[in-house]
Amino acid sequence: MAYDSAHGFSCDCGQTEWQVSKTAKGSQVVCYCTDCQAHLRHLDRVDLLHDGGTYIYQTTPDAVTLIKGHENLALQRLGPNGMMRYYTSCCKTPVANTLSKATLPFVGLPLKGEDPRLGPVICHAHTDKGTSGRKQTGFAAAGWGILIRAARAILSGRRASPFFTDAGEPVIHPTVLTREERRIASLRR
Ligand SMILES: [Zn+2]
Ligand SMILES: [Zn+2]
Repeated sequence: MAYDSAHGFSCDCGQTEWQVSKTAKGSQVVCYCTDCQAHLRHLDRVDLLHDGGTYIYQTTPDAVTLIKGHENLALQRLGPNGMMRYYTSCCKTPVANTLSKATLPFVGLPLKGEDPRLGPVICHAHTDKGTSGRKQTGFAAAGWGILIRAARAILSGRRASPFFTDAGEPVIHPTVLTREERRIASLRR
């Protein structure tokens, strides 16, 4: 169970739990990009797409703690240059997206839907790839938020991440989709 000072999250089957500090700074966004969609389609989790969009909480990795089910953590990249997309092997619940290196303290936590605990949605990104009919909004604000939070984390020495070793390597070895697997994933409905 999460502490009172943190928001708790659980995979669908309950074997894996993580939390994010309530004092962390972050933004809730919806991303409709083809990569976020392909990831969920490959996991056979289209139920988590909202008009093709994924709700994501963007914050710094030091705010995130894995509580249980570390052995269930799996890691996928949609290609050799793709983001690190952590999910649970127990029930295919997405957990976190990071860049390929720990250099920029950034993490996006995919959510099951809008999470009122995490503040208002400030950005709808890449809406042309979704079916919501929305215009893209808040993209610059979300980008600045990521950079400012990362800079503050670096300046105050908050470099810890549950997703990278101290040497800056991902904590588990990623599976990289082939172009064909990526293509098939994006066609899945
Ligand atoms: Zn699970
Ligand atoms: Zn995306």
